[in-house]
Amino acid sequence: MCGIVGYIGGQQATPIILDGLRKLEYRGYDSAGIATLNGGESGIRRSEGKLVNLDNLLRDHPLAGSIGIGHTRWATHGRPSEINAHPHKAGPVILVHNGIIENYLQLKEQLKQAGHTFKSETDTEVIAHLVEEKLTSEVDFEKAVRLALSELRGAYAVCILNEQEPGTLIAAKLGSPMVVGLGQGEFLVASDIPAILAHTREMVFMEDGEMVVFRNGEAAFSTIAGERLDKNRVISTGRR
Ligand code: GLU
Repeated sequence: MCGIVGYIGGQQATPIILDGLRKLEYRGYDSAGIATLNGGESGIRRSEGKLVNLDNLLRDHPLAGSIGIGHTRWATHGRPSEINAHPHKAGPVILVHNGIIENYLQLKEQLKQAGHTFKSETDTEVIAHLVEEKLTSEVDFEKAVRLALSELRGAYAVCILNEQEPGTLIAAKLGSPMVVGLGQGEFLVASDIPAILAHTREMVFMEDGEMVVFRNGEAAFSTIAGERLDKNRVISTGRR
């Protein structure tokens, strides 16, 4: 198992995400990475091994921005390496993923035929390319994510950014855990409560097949198919 953390708000995202990943260390991992958006510019830092390696990399090559996603990876497809570490990027789409995409080979083949070039050996990279493939002048980021996710078989918790929509963070889950933290003018999303607790105790537990879009200071919950949801907010005691 491994972890994801996403942040959107008024603070610098990188230290918050790094701290969140540290709180998820118990889940085990072999590499780690963070991506942020700073206006229309994105930055990605990834490193093999322990979080201290990513921390050191970020000291030398900092990442600014108040929206970001982070990941600790437990390799299932493709060896542990920097190239296979998340976040993965395809065009403007940047993504972290926990889980396994069972139909990734078939999707990868289709996407290659449509002209996509893959950099990693992971199953995850197909999700980024699939979202990119769905983005057109008629299909916006949110819709593209819904269309892409509906083609996936397997398990996922994903956090997704789009350079062309630098104020939006989208997260969704099916079969991998995910909790959302509702802070003061900021939101967090993570695999588990400890990554969020330092920032807020007000949380929403995501169920399978659900998605959340963070944009304009709001969190909009829905099913992946697009049905709006009024989710229960709970005050976390620190345990599920
Ligand atoms: N299957 C993905 C990979 O191997 C994600 C693994 C994970 O959950 O960390 O990169």
